Amino acid sequence: MADDGQTGNMGRAERVGHGAEMHAKSIVADVHVDTLDVLLRTGKTMSEGAPAGHVCKAFLKEGGVDLLVTAMWTDQRFRPEGTMHRVMQMADLFWQTCDGSDFFAVLSRSDLDRLGGGGPIGLMLAIEGGEALCGDLAMLRLYHRLGVRLLTLTWSNRNELADGIWEKSAQGGLTDFGHKVVDFMNQLGMVIDLSHISERGFWDVLECSKVPPICSHSNAKRLCPNPRNLSDEQAVALAEKGGVIGLTLCPPFLAQEGPATLEVFLNHIDHFAGLLGAHHLCIGSDFDGITATPEGLPNISYLPLITEGLLRRGYSDETVAGIIGDNFVRLLRQQLPA
Ligand SMILES: [Zn+2]
Repeated sequence: MADDGQTGNMGRAERVGHGAEMHAKSIVADVHVDTLDVLLRTGKTMSEGAPAGHVCKAFLKEGGVDLLVTAMWTDQRFRPEGTMHRVMQMADLFWQTCDGSDFFAVLSRSDLDRLGGGGPIGLMLAIEGGEALCGDLAMLRLYHRLGVRLLTLTWSNRNELADGIWEKSAQGGLTDFGHKVVDFMNQLGMVIDLSHISERGFWDVLECSKVPPICSHSNAKRLCPNPRNLSDEQAVALAEKGGVIGLTLCPPFLAQEGPATLEVFLNHIDHFAGLLGAHHLCIGSDFDGITATPEGLPNISYLPLITEGLLRRGYSDETVAGIIGDNFVRLLRQQLPA
């Protein structure tokens, strides 16, 4: 996509206005936030302001967000005994938040029809780090009953399923148990998330999963060579399989040098859009999981600026609607239980 830096004759308010307008008529999804961990640590609720500054009910409404994937990430210092307890505490907070009037749980394809139109915000429960399964498929079955619909197979270190990206020397792929988890997730209708996994693990899952996985919060390694980002080869293979990539606002994954800005974020979108088509892109901000945010994007209420930026760079309304929500919802329609 062209980026001539021109903003035309429109004033700033009008341009932001166009972004906000798009948010009013489209489904807006953020496919990765760590808000449940923040709520657990602070004892606050979604209605009480944003304890870590990034996500709360008011910011979500202001940003026109319709669907939020809330990951249950557990600090590695709780491993192994404390992990499941923390996950259960976060699942409890999730269900307390889903009161039906402000928030509802997205569990099935039919729930997707309730998204948008100014109604309650859909929350999708996710686990970030397969160590929460404690090496037992029964736990996966129970988590599914508890409403978990997405699992990030590993965080950055090793667990029973595979190695994370920080296991530099081993770079192990899927274990036998990891293969079983992928098979069972395919049966249950749970979305497989490959952000954080080792490269070998990534390729193993691409080969054995019957449905397309996603990367919920990763950027382009070509523009920022952080190990957490995806190589062009990985991104193309994921797209060819039908998966989607959630581009993230985490500053170290945006720019190795120089400031992390909205424009840099848009450069990552441009890169992948040119390589594999914007049809395979979405947004996974990692709000509440990151300490610093890009300049000018301090919290989730600012998402319309991304939309406005995409429109300014010449993407069509339909393409932008895909990136800000429809592409992820399309994948959910193919994978969630009826
Ligand atoms: Zn993460």
